[in-house]
Amino acid sequence: MKYKRIVIKIGTSLITQNNGDLNTIFISELAKLCEKLNESKYEIVIVSSGAIGAGIKIINETKDHFLNQNQTSIKQVLASVGQPLVMKSYQEIFDQSNIQTSQILLTRKEISEDKSTYLNVKNTIEKLIELKIIPIINENDVVSTEEVEGDKFGDNDTLSAYVSNLIDANLLIILSSLDGVYTSDPNLDPENAILIKEFKDITFNEINTLGGPSSDKRGTGGMSAKLKAIEIASMSGTDVVITNGNNVNNIEKILRNEKIGTFFPAKSKIIERKKKWLVNNMSRSKSITIDDGAKAAITNNNTSLLPAGIINVIGTFKAGEVVCILDKEKKIIASGISSYSNKEINKIKGKQSENIINILGYVHTEEVIHKNNLVSI
Ligand code: GLU
Repeated sequence: MKYKRIVIKIGTSLITQNNGDLNTIFISELAKLCEKLNESKYEIVIVSSGAIGAGIKIINETKDHFLNQNQTSIKQVLASVGQPLVMKSYQEIFDQSNIQTSQILLTRKEISEDKSTYLNVKNTIEKLIELKIIPIINENDVVSTEEVEGDKFGDNDTLSAYVSNLIDANLLIILSSLDGVYTSDPNLDPENAILIKEFKDITFNEINTLGGPSSDKRGTGGMSAKLKAIEIASMSGTDVVITNGNNVNNIEKILRNEKIGTFFPAKSKIIERKKKWLVNNMSRSKSITIDDGAKAAITNNNTSLLPAGIINVIGTFKAGEVVCILDKEKKIIASGISSYSNKEINKIKGKQSENIINILGYVHTEEVIHKNNLVSI
């Protein structure tokens, strides 16, 4: 299996119709496919738009009131009305294929790598995947605002790239209304537009010349947003394919290694990117010293770090911060994101994980650093 963890991005024009009704045929085909993929042990995460598109129905009923509002607040109201409708359809339809779904609404600042919320979101998504529940993720349009710098993704293409980075997805499939990226806009220039099968590298120039704005007023993406998002995802170690979402079977074909849509190979290996980030962000003043047993387990078997193997903790840090891991000789052997603060680790060091609850009165995670958040150096 070339890919295991896959993010599928679904835009407004696929999931909703012009009048705001949800496209239940599409959702039901997607559910059947996800059932098959779940059985084949693929790990699926969906990033879905459609909140604003589905909320559009209410505007007809309360038009005059809305005409006096500014654009952002209208969209926020529509998203607030539409999001539960989108989730209701996913839940009801996926349920028929025996798949449980969950909702995650995010703003950009919550999943910036320097925030402790980053770890909470990552851990939650990974737990859901483990439980075979498919997370359906959207931007939290009601709270994220353009005015606050770094707060808004702005479009779900970008959100899907950040999510791929967050959970180390191997593949991001962006479902589009086109078959992929063309040399020119196929709607305006059908004679000459040629589908590009593969991009080795996207340049800034190409983002500007090939990309256009969204043709659908209800969504915010467009090809230009897609290309920028792809750049983020491929730099994070994720392969990306843009393909036509009107045929859900395209997803299966991609997983069978058929050349469908436009392919963008990852520019780095996930582990290299992660390592770089963890190493760049660690400081010797925040460290955890571990015993020989834990050292062997981490370096030879890539295991998580449990409290039992911890001898000492140095420095002041919160849960979600990067710490370095030292062996008894004070040599740095690994770096990782701690699920506990230094104060908490001081209380649980040397203890079995099942005792965390008695000592702290709560448990963030069984391990102090999960193996997904840890790299040996
Ligand atoms: N978050 C928006 C929605 O659910 C869509 C953003 C986009 O079109 O990319 O309606």
